[in-house]
Amino acid sequence: LMPMALILSLLFVALTSNWLKRKSSFRDEIRRGIERSEFSVHYQPVFNLQTQKFSGAEALMRWQRPDGHWVRPDVFISAAESEGMIVPLTRYLLQRVIQDSAQWQLEPGFHLSVNLAAEHLQHDEFMSDIRAFAAGMDHLKPTITLELTERSLIGEDRMVSQRLAELRREGIIIAIDDFGTGHCALSYLQTFPLDYLKIDRGFVNTIESVDGETPVLDAIISLADKLALKVVAEGVENEMQLRYLQNHGVSFIQGYYFARPMESAVLSEWLQEHNG
Ligand code: C2E
Ligand code: CA
Ligand code: CA
Ligand code: CA
Repeated sequence: LMPMALILSLLFVALTSNWLKRKSSFRDEIRRGIERSEFSVHYQPVFNLQTQKFSGAEALMRWQRPDGHWVRPDVFISAAESEGMIVPLTRYLLQRVIQDSAQWQLEPGFHLSVNLAAEHLQHDEFMSDIRAFAAGMDHLKPTITLELTERSLIGEDRMVSQRLAELRREGIIIAIDDFGTGHCALSYLQTFPLDYLKIDRGFVNTIESVDGETPVLDAIISLADKLALKVVAEGVENEMQLRYLQNHGVSFIQGYYFARPMESAVLSEWLQEHNG
């Protein structure tokens, strides 16, 4: 019989080497996925209650493996973030959106949102990436919106706040995504230049009736109002939630109630059909 210590150490080596292999191959798979165009972009329209029209859309990345399997975005995005692949992946997305947009007709000023990871904001080529994107989209004259999570605004980073201020002067809009879920202090709200606050689906889910009480959601809405930020509510799935948000002065609605994320090829026609 092998001594217990030997068995344990063999087991340990087997487990860790297997784990390392899986980890490095995920990175390689993302890289290969980019090379083989396995990633695509879906677009979810956002409804403006004031104009009663769809006034924007959010670009959301999708990954379909060669075997047909769709990898969940939250899974591959966090893997890309932790394995140093989020910047190349985001660059791929930005290029893809430019390509997709060749077949669109949009009203000038239509808000087109992209999600950016914290790491990208610190990157040397962040400004040139965003400017190249804006230049590539210029044929449609959209309003480009950058969706940033609270985590990317942690610590009053002067470089990031200057970069955002500069982009804003160039007509780009900044939205804070998944608001209230980041376990962050709120001081960044005073430091960073922001335009929109996106309320996470988790808070929309707390709405139980049109005239019910949802104190945290209400506080977020009134905070946004005091800071002169526009509010987008995410994950709106039914009429009751819609009415509640409308009664509380929220102007922008994103969710399955109005539209699911859709393929690039149908976005433009869909918008024309629904915006009359
Ligand atoms: P997110 O930025 O909060 O995007 C909104 C998510 O909510 C999307 O999930 C969207 O499909 C989903 N959603 C919208 N309306 C509803 C609804 O009414 N009900 C429900 N149940 N869900 C709704 P998705 O596409 O799976 O993306 C998940 C997350 O992955 C995104 O959350 C974002 O954090 C990340 N992500 C997706 N694409 C990108 C990207 O290109 N770059 C980065 N950095 N992150 C991305
Ligand atoms: Ca988002
Ligand atoms: Ca969100
Ligand atoms: Ca979310």
